[in-house]
Amino acid sequence: MGFLDGRRVLITGVASYRSLAYGIAKAMYREGAQLAFTYQNNKLKDRVRKIANDFGSDIVLPCDVSEDESINDLFLHLSKFWLKFDGFVHAIAYASNDQLNGDYVESITREGFSVAHNVTSYSFVALAKACRNMLSTCSSLVTLTYLGSVRAIPNYNVMGLAKASLEANMRYMARSLGAEGIRVNAISSGPVRTLAASGIMNFKQMLSYCKDKSPMCRNVTIDEIGNVAAFLCSDLSSGITGEVIYVDAGFSVV
Ligand code: NAD
Repeated sequence: MGFLDGRRVLITGVASYRSLAYGIAKAMYREGAQLAFTYQNNKLKDRVRKIANDFGSDIVLPCDVSEDESINDLFLHLSKFWLKFDGFVHAIAYASNDQLNGDYVESITREGFSVAHNVTSYSFVALAKACRNMLSTCSSLVTLTYLGSVRAIPNYNVMGLAKASLEANMRYMARSLGAEGIRVNAISSGPVRTLAASGIMNFKQMLSYCKDKSPMCRNVTIDEIGNVAAFLCSDLSSGITGEVIYVDAGFSVV
């Protein structure tokens, strides 16, 4: 018996075996959840299909969160498999590499700001808006954020603003959806080497700095992020909503 037995959860943001969303799917599958997956584009389709197969799922649907039509199509297709489901994981962020490199004031552009906020923050509520009537009364929505939302971190630049927006978005969503039994939370992960992270200049230095300074003297793993996401999607966390939970080996407190 797993603590997610019978739960149906949609996982977005799998791009590789290193993705935080992969660690999350792994933990949720272990705890008995039925999973569905999205992929951003055709380049990722076969890879996500293979990963979904590892987790016993053949529900693998396209969704580019920068387009409303794509989001609406996602839930139209998903409703052919699941009329109701119990939440989703939003593990999506994007800013172009030139925005994540060097001096903040020099690098930021109107277009870079807009794209980062659209894909990283707006997409979370856009997904919730489109599937609200499909969510059960014990649903949980989980997003992924980073400490750059509350501290000025070198090179994280506009993504820090987008994550601050995402965290505020999460709190407003928690307030809006709470009476329907839908909880909304964020996990603030310490740095993990993934495809998205490789776009941040000097990411290796970030990893070794966090390792040196964190109370636990190490970085976190995607399995540790996965366990917390599984907990947040289960009844074990039934009293928690509107929270940012740090899974960062304690780095944020020192
Ligand atoms: P990743 O590259 O494995 O995943 C990023 C995902 O975002 C990819 O699957 C990509 O396809 C998806 N994506 C980007 N634009 C999209 C769009 N328009 N439509 C649909 N999907 C889109 O990297 P990751 O590090 O696992 O990132 C997952 C989340 O975790 C992100 O929100 C990231 O900011 C957050 N996070 C990562 C770290 C880290 O150090 N890796 C730390 C804290 C938070």
